[in-house]
Amino acid sequence: MNNREEFPGRGRDPQEAMEAREKVQKKLSELFGGMDHDIPLLLFADSFTNNQYSEAARTVIRAVRELSKRVTLREFSLGHDLARQYQVTHSPTLLFDPDHFSIRWLGAPVGQEGTTFVEAIIMLGYRKTELSEPSTKILKKITSPRAIKLFVSPTCPYCPQQAVNALKTAIARPDMISLEIIDIMACPDLAEQYNAYGVPVCYANDVMIARGAQPEELFMASLEKLEQQNVFIPESDAEQVETDVAIIGGGPAGLTAGIYAARSGLNAVIIERGALGGQVALTPVVENYPGFAQIGGKTLVDIMVQHALQYVPIFPDEEVMEIKIGRPFEISTNRRRYTARAVLLATGATYRRLDAPGEEQFAGSGVSYCATCDGFLFRGKKVLIVGGGDSALTDALYLANNEVDVTIVHRRDTFRAQDYLVSQVRDRGIGILFNTEVREIRGDTKVREAVLFNNRTGATSTQPVDGVFIAIGYVPTVDLARKIGVELTGDGFIKCDGHHRTSIPGIYAAGDVEGGYKQIVTAAGQGSGAAITIFEDLVNPYWTAQEKH
Ligand code: NAP
Repeated sequence: MNNREEFPGRGRDPQEAMEAREKVQKKLSELFGGMDHDIPLLLFADSFTNNQYSEAARTVIRAVRELSKRVTLREFSLGHDLARQYQVTHSPTLLFDPDHFSIRWLGAPVGQEGTTFVEAIIMLGYRKTELSEPSTKILKKITSPRAIKLFVSPTCPYCPQQAVNALKTAIARPDMISLEIIDIMACPDLAEQYNAYGVPVCYANDVMIARGAQPEELFMASLEKLEQQNVFIPESDAEQVETDVAIIGGGPAGLTAGIYAARSGLNAVIIERGALGGQVALTPVVENYPGFAQIGGKTLVDIMVQHALQYVPIFPDEEVMEIKIGRPFEISTNRRRYTARAVLLATGATYRRLDAPGEEQFAGSGVSYCATCDGFLFRGKKVLIVGGGDSALTDALYLANNEVDVTIVHRRDTFRAQDYLVSQVRDRGIGILFNTEVREIRGDTKVREAVLFNNRTGATSTQPVDGVFIAIGYVPTVDLARKIGVELTGDGFIKCDGHHRTSIPGIYAAGDVEGGYKQIVTAAGQGSGAAITIFEDLVNPYWTAQEKH
């Protein structure tokens, strides 16, 4: 590769190039003119490794230094003591004001990355990041260190936007955030190590948090949650919210109810304490939601949330503590209070536990209830998945496709799962242990083995494993319903009248908590039905007559 191809802008007519350079220098001098903080730069560059990048870095950085007294530059070789002190391993590496910030650039700030470099100088020189208010709020929530590695290339037009996002975080929160901007051309070894062949791609604490350039708030949210976020939900400071319908639960039932309620002219809010999307967000692949032949559960949730947000505010990470029955209902959460004319309980279901010794002890260190979340940690390792329903088989396929050595353990000799899943499992050659129960999970700091019981032969055996995934169904989340005295069915679901009305007038239920088929599409249907009933009841409250007597 020659320099012309590599560093765009080179190779012009000399006169033209000089004029363009002078113009840029003048503009930059003006931009740097009012900077009120010094920016010490430390450049580590060898002449014998990666020489063209080292040379380019020296040229650009020296030129920028000439434009402001605030910018100082010290240059060292990779063999210098300071390189060891700052753990610099690649040439060229540029450190920005290392006494105050942990920001380094591996590569030369040329091509598209020249813009990012100038932005970095300006933000450091003025100590201003121009972060939006929502971004500032999200960043404040970060309470443990984040080590960002952002992979870029000089020819990528999307990279500067993501690099600026990352720079803003490292400048605004130097106490928690460190940043390495890594040019994949100058550092092919790191690109290979992180499989960073499409840029920009961003890792934080070695977890991939973003692919492509993101709007600022989404980048902040991805960094805070340490997972890629695709939807941004603005936070509310309101202490009191008045609404027609308070929907508790942000799964398919609650999100659909929100859309339907708002479209019928009601004010509605959705309050969710955990992950939006409920169980769907944890489902690796969904193949039976009409309109989507095959879609990731989390992607489907993001689409639903984006749609719902067009109609109704969503209050995430908020737990309902109390509902006072009255007209209106008074709802207290850990964040604020609501008054509502109707309440929809769409609280869904949580995974069922095996109740085997070791299950609780190793939860999070080998025992998992979510293949999509934790599957990648077991790549190349041996795991069991317990269960014989759709969840267990879908998860087994997901794990097998992600190079996990998985065996299904089922207590009977036939699966409950749909036939097409059973065929796929057989075609894939996934191991199956029928008539087998996991009696104990053992290990030290992590899972090492499972004790298996064959309920046909009565034999007990031990199998060495690295993990146990449990997918044995769900139990309805009815703690809140119980607390307010809503009647339950014998199976523990919320009892409804066929139109989603519960035993308490003005309180409704929809989705998995109401029982039924427990499909995404049926939960959405239940949500729409409940919203229609609520609309009709608020227009013509059947309880007014009851309450008069
Ligand atoms: P499920 O259908 O209730 O199946 C639970 C499985 O776990 C059953 O095979 C059951 O065994 C076993 N099990 C229950 N308790 C156990 C215990 N204590 N020890 C060992 N095994 C135990 O639950 P699911 O698979 O999570 O599915 C829940 C609902 O979501 C279903 O309606 C399902 O159709 C739906 N879903 C659909 C999809 C999809 O369509 N793509 C994906 C996931 C879930 P037995 O068979 O012996 O009872």
